[in-house]
Amino acid sequence: MRRFDGRRLLVATHNAGKLAEMQALLAPFGVTVIGAAEAGLSEPAETEQTFLGNARIKARAAVAATGLPALSDDSGICIDALDGAPGVHTADWAETGHGRDFAMAMERTWRALEDAGAPEPRQAQFRCTLVLMWPDGHDAVFEGTLPGRVVWPPRGAEGHGYDPIFMPEGHDVTLGEMQPALKNSLSHRARAVAKMIEGCFA
Ligand code: IMP
Repeated sequence: MRRFDGRRLLVATHNAGKLAEMQALLAPFGVTVIGAAEAGLSEPAETEQTFLGNARIKARAAVAATGLPALSDDSGICIDALDGAPGVHTADWAETGHGRDFAMAMERTWRALEDAGAPEPRQAQFRCTLVLMWPDGHDAVFEGTLPGRVVWPPRGAEGHGYDPIFMPEGHDVTLGEMQPALKNSLSHRARAVAKMIEGCFA
């Protein structure tokens, strides 16, 4: 596995939360993290049908625009009784035409499970794929999975997205009820980042 020995890394996200998380995690390795907004990047269309495909689109676009090494992530929730849906379409299920509405997306998810007659427990996983890409096009891929189940009604006001309807395995609260520090220590993204640090930075 290729080690990352650069000083600057473009994190191909417009999400301030993800950016701050990466900044904190990579600071001990002397890496300066630059966000997509700071670099003036636009968001490319995510046209692939896999997390890896879409993460590569984002990493490639960021490298091409800046010449810097780039880190991208693509994530979502995959529900067993829905054959893995919404999966790569997780964010799309929240689209209203005028912004994202996650209360609606969670309701849509629950409705789909009811319509499918899905028995309890409604097993699901949050998945995250990270792509670290160097300017020569070489990349390294890291995946993190958080198993759990979908519950209804939504619980808790912490976190974001589908957190209020997801209860991680081994816990009796949803991600929406969890303190951010706890969620960030066990999340699919944290697991993928830990593998990347071990493989390329430590
Ligand atoms: P992406 O920005 O294309 O990767 O979209 C990922 C979507 O998956 C987000 O819009 C969220 O709805 C959802 N998602 C990813 N990670 C989480 C999480 O940790 N909690 C809740 N929702 C998440």
